[in-house]
Amino acid sequence: MNMQQRPPAVDKALAWPGMQTLIASHGRALVLDSLRAALELWRSGEISDQPTLVATVQQRIERTLAPSMRPVLNLTGTVLHTNLGRAPLPPEALAAMTAVAAGASNLEYDLASGQRGDRDAHVEDWICRLTGAEAATVVNNNAAAVLLVLNALASRREVVVSRGELIEIGGSFRLPDIMARAGCKLREVGTTNRTHARDYAEAVTARTALLLKAHTSNYQVQGFTTSLDEAQLAGIARAQGVPLVVDLGSGSLIDMQALGLPAEPVVGRILAQGVDVVTFSGDKLLGGPQAGIIAGRAELISKIRNSPLKRALRCDKLTLAALEAVLRLYADPDTLVQRVPTLRLLTREPAAIRQTAEALLPSLRGWAGAGFEADVCDVYSQIGSGSLPLETLPSAALRLSSISSNKRTRSRELRELAERLRQLPTPVIGRIADDSLLLDCRCVEDPEPLRQQWEAGA
Ligand SMILES: *Cc1c(COP(=O)(O)O)cnc(C)c1O
Repeated sequence: MNMQQRPPAVDKALAWPGMQTLIASHGRALVLDSLRAALELWRSGEISDQPTLVATVQQRIERTLAPSMRPVLNLTGTVLHTNLGRAPLPPEALAAMTAVAAGASNLEYDLASGQRGDRDAHVEDWICRLTGAEAATVVNNNAAAVLLVLNALASRREVVVSRGELIEIGGSFRLPDIMARAGCKLREVGTTNRTHARDYAEAVTARTALLLKAHTSNYQVQGFTTSLDEAQLAGIARAQGVPLVVDLGSGSLIDMQALGLPAEPVVGRILAQGVDVVTFSGDKLLGGPQAGIIAGRAELISKIRNSPLKRALRCDKLTLAALEAVLRLYADPDTLVQRVPTLRLLTREPAAIRQTAEALLPSLRGWAGAGFEADVCDVYSQIGSGSLPLETLPSAALRLSSISSNKRTRSRELRELAERLRQLPTPVIGRIADDSLLLDCRCVEDPEPLRQQWEAGA
């Protein structure tokens, strides 16, 4: 029989020099927790000596202290990837957040009068200037913006929406559900493919609070279709004496088509059509922090801002600092695209992306090993975040495929390779398509850290 040595007493083990070193760097509480767990391993026979016990305690502490949220490299080809945190922020936004993070700020304090101020004040003028809106307010995200607008303007009343626009956005944002939570009654009009002016006009009664249009960003109804544009709807809303609210989803402060990108409603133009209130995201095409921006007529914005729900949905100081900094970049259209990372990534030249991919190919090949073939291929990137997945962003990817002749083996090996990529110090996220693992290099502006990672792991 294996005479297992009895585990050391806790107090005795804590006094070992190795443990004392750990206590000096991490504190007694964490060392004690990890030691107790490691002693279980001693009892079960997995550990039987002092150095192994100390090393095990150290490993456990390191695992406990490892940050859960950390940077990853987005090589999925989807620029605004909701699961990967959407828009990367420009240095100006990071600096603005740092400047107000550690101490007090004038978040809700008017430095001129010494009186209480409004946190919207830091961004409202910028939003108005960039969209032509009379007033604006900001909340935590665009889903919150829609909820707040509906609750503030239409609680216990009817909201008229086309059946073709009862949208679901990824992550369980369903317009009918949001409407129910906002306390308003959905009045569907028209059909999935066709909604006419008379449908809206006939639906408006004394119970109607507003007309709502939602931008159907992530799908298209094609063929025999009719829907009304903002100008037509605004005409009906005005004639009926009710406001028109448009949920733009992403929206954009500039003309995306002028950048060679798919058309996206420009917030300023939509408001100029006579729309009363628009909502859009801060971290989609705008390229800022997560936020929901509400802009439009002063009287309606004031009602929205004074609603009790606004207090529950408001942004924190870091978001507002970042948003203000990003909006400020829009003041100079000539440098905007280079300074806002989202716009810079979306407009990257395919040739430059290919160059990055080719520079990375040798180190990836070495890292992946002899069981894989690697080359550079043409792909299409996606804008992401609900934008239509159109094939309009030509890009280049590193492509890895298994050399095995067995289909199931190939597929397993690709999944294992994808897992190895996720286990790198800075995890790399790609996508598997057509029997290969694709690493779209659109979002890799600096290949160096990636190359070093692969060379270190080869
Ligand atoms: C993305 C989107 C939303 C939700 O916006 P979040 O900022 O993710 O909360 C709502 N409506 C539309 C049309 C969208 O595209």
